[in-house]
Amino acid sequence: MMTNKTLELYFHIPFCVRKCLYCDFLSAPADEATKSRYMEALVRETQEKAKVCTDYTVTSVFFGGGTPSVVNPQALAKVLNTAKACFRFTKDAEITMEMNPGTVNADSLSVYKEAGINRISIGLQSTNDRYLEKLGRIHNFETFLKTYEAVRKAGFTNVNIDLMGALPGQSLAEYEADVKTVLELNPEHLSVYSLMIEEGTPFGDRLEQNKLEPPEEELEREMYWRAHELLTKAGYEHYEISNYAKPGFACRHNVGYWKRISYLGLGLGASSLMENRRYQNEKSLSTYLQNPLATSEEAETLSGQEQMEETMFLGLRMLEGVSRKEFAETYAIDMDTVYKNVLDRNERDGLLENVEDRVRLTPRGMDISNYVMAQFLKD
Ligand code: SF4
Repeated sequence: MMTNKTLELYFHIPFCVRKCLYCDFLSAPADEATKSRYMEALVRETQEKAKVCTDYTVTSVFFGGGTPSVVNPQALAKVLNTAKACFRFTKDAEITMEMNPGTVNADSLSVYKEAGINRISIGLQSTNDRYLEKLGRIHNFETFLKTYEAVRKAGFTNVNIDLMGALPGQSLAEYEADVKTVLELNPEHLSVYSLMIEEGTPFGDRLEQNKLEPPEEELEREMYWRAHELLTKAGYEHYEISNYAKPGFACRHNVGYWKRISYLGLGLGASSLMENRRYQNEKSLSTYLQNPLATSEEAETLSGQEQMEETMFLGLRMLEGVSRKEFAETYAIDMDTVYKNVLDRNERDGLLENVEDRVRLTPRGMDISNYVMAQFLKD
């Protein structure tokens, strides 16, 4: 019998060919033996965790990282097949895999296709080799094109490309050229992010030493809105702050995350939200390999207040915003009762607007979305 409790699965593959200079994700290079032990641990974790998820139906799976395409394709297929054998899946489950240019070939792509992967996300970041090198990426644009072509040839019809703006030294014209070049490839989905320089990365260190100059905020915003103009003109729907899709191709997995559908994170450091309990898997690779069921800390059960906060700041990321009706149905209290002051203030300032029963960010609100969202957090 199908249940109506839906679940998303996230598999973290924490390996990369080498570390990019701006990256603070949980990922590192590793030898083949470690990768293979890891994938076996992931199989074990999947089998065990499925036992407590029997009343859920999986609607989407996401292999992220790291670079999922650097592990043996058969091992990745085995993890997916294990998940399919242990969990109940909807027939049309969206199954995404992230990959980096130059890490796949026709053979590996056919293994992924055969296993049921039906959505591919490729980390391009820039079409300009000079910036790819500056970022410490392993590929150049030519390599990306070969990968993209191979992905299409293997029969994948739902492909995302990740593009990054606001790179140190990048001009608006260069970024615009990036967006236009990517549009010519006609992907179903585009994620357009601004580079964030994080502490503890080589870029973070260079910034501290004044050896790196990120673009002014004004230029970063110009890039954002130029991409918006080009992409919407080309028929892409802007559905989340950084995400655009052709009609029907929004990433269901990520939309589920912003709508707070339960998700189970498997693998090193993966986070889960299950029935309003948040927890994170073990972050040390050696501990995880010994015990893939270890968590990094006690699970946190979210209070009603915290759930409402998350509904607002995650929901507002989406262009459709948050429905007052759904909010009231979920929490048995009106959004306007809980957030009257915040809503009034931001509407008055032109940062939030009401469309039918929804509250959503205005274009101005999108420019300072972190500021708007932070106001929904009560301390
Ligand atoms: S490929 Fe992605 S996850 Fe790996 S180091 Fe580069 S940015 Fe980080």
